[in-house]
Amino acid sequence: MYIIQIASECAPVAKVGGLGDVVFGLSRELEIRGNAVEIILPKYDCLRYDKIFGLQVAYQDLWVPWYGGAIHCTVFFGFVDGRKCFFIDAHGEHNFFNRRTFYGQHDDDQRFAFFCRAALEFMLKSNKHPDVIHCHDWQTGLVPVLLYEIYQQLGMRHPRVCYTLHNLQHQGVTREHILRAAGLNRHAYFYHQDRLQDNFNSSALNLMKGGIVYANFVTTVSPRYLDEILYSAQNYGLGHTLHVHRGKLGGILNGLDYDVWNPETDRHIPRRYGLEHLDDKFVNKAALRSRFWLRDALRPVVCYVGRLDQQKGLPLVAHAIHYCLNQGCQFVLLGTAADGRIAHQFQELKRHYNDHPDCHIELGFNEELSHLIYAGAEMIIVPSLFEPCGLTQMIGLKYGTVPIVRATGGLADTIFDADYAPKPYHERNGYTFNDFNNAGIESALHRAIGLWYSYPRYFRELMENGMRCDYSWNHPGQHYLNVYEYIRDK
Ligand code: ADP
Repeated sequence: MYIIQIASECAPVAKVGGLGDVVFGLSRELEIRGNAVEIILPKYDCLRYDKIFGLQVAYQDLWVPWYGGAIHCTVFFGFVDGRKCFFIDAHGEHNFFNRRTFYGQHDDDQRFAFFCRAALEFMLKSNKHPDVIHCHDWQTGLVPVLLYEIYQQLGMRHPRVCYTLHNLQHQGVTREHILRAAGLNRHAYFYHQDRLQDNFNSSALNLMKGGIVYANFVTTVSPRYLDEILYSAQNYGLGHTLHVHRGKLGGILNGLDYDVWNPETDRHIPRRYGLEHLDDKFVNKAALRSRFWLRDALRPVVCYVGRLDQQKGLPLVAHAIHYCLNQGCQFVLLGTAADGRIAHQFQELKRHYNDHPDCHIELGFNEELSHLIYAGAEMIIVPSLFEPCGLTQMIGLKYGTVPIVRATGGLADTIFDADYAPKPYHERNGYTFNDFNNAGIESALHRAIGLWYSYPRYFRELMENGMRCDYSWNHPGQHYLNVYEYIRDK
């Protein structure tokens, strides 16, 4: 099958969070299974250009319709760890992708609406007729809309669209100007509750809703998250739309690319290890301590790696640091905040713990360092308010770093409590809690830390149980192929 992924992220060249990992990992799995896969991305100025090989011009003069005129683009091609990627470079006054950042610009709605239009224009002009276009999140919600309302009439009759919802908190809610910009000129037609009109603000346009309405199949990144968005307020107002389109929804748990995330082969850690030689993990613990000037003592290292966003349960993260230090643990945090207020709070926290011999807070995005933290720590906390899938707990499992998570979304689908899960002990792999408060996370941390200190043999078994779990792309890859075949043949 011929599949084109259109996305705003792809690891490791353009990664803000899990979306980047998923686009890369799924593409790789699909290729291993004999499919032809291409990825279309914006050519951001902040791409990791050191990770792109053979970058060259693939299409010289692409004129992309925009507001009744057109914007001149060049499309580049390059390999990202073997994946075939096209990068759209938009010239002209808007400078859409040269902002030194991926997201967070005042005109993100226009930047990504333009990207959708440009991706389809490129496919049309270069005669690409994939069986399936797979697009992701609000940034590419306009792809199926444009395909079925404009490009199908221009000859692109073959492709079908799979649309994956990674996070319903961000829906691309915007205004009417996007319709004019993108060439969707029938205002009343698109501003309709059955199409792109926002469910709660009748004068707003919702790009994610457009993706749901027009795609041939819609997936969420875990089965539990699908239930949550259908039956709780977590859908941020898209509940009605999801129910109307219930028949084309499915939940597929994200996979983890074990080529990238595997302690037996990881190039970023000082000592590789696996189930057979788990003691070598502690060489990485020592390296982590020495990198962050933490003292060498008989204490477990607990970590947090992730975006510093309210979604991630930041008050509980802050409380966990305090609690862990009081309970005889060390704590390492790696994270970045897009929001200025949150960034400031964590800078304050960093200052507070600056000289602490058992704590280090690292603010910034550092892919290589994240590997050392996963390898060196013994526990990882993920106390999210909501979590569509979550990759850090799965990475933790693979690295023998026991996850302590709030039982929500994909966290509930992947982590099974050491004490209470209705499963045999060898299938339990971490600690879970329900209540989103300090007492909730303490109840799980207390049990985990207690096991580490009092029953190290059982703690080690828990680490090994996690390492044996298979959250590779093997199963999800097959599920996505089933979806692709289903929509292609329909
Ligand atoms: P989300 O997609 O909500 O950000 P996920 O758990 O699905 O959360 O994916 C997070 C991914 O981003 C993981 O691969 C994690 O290691 C990585 N990551 C998050 N923050 C950082 C950071 N500051 N430095 C390096 N990697 C990070």
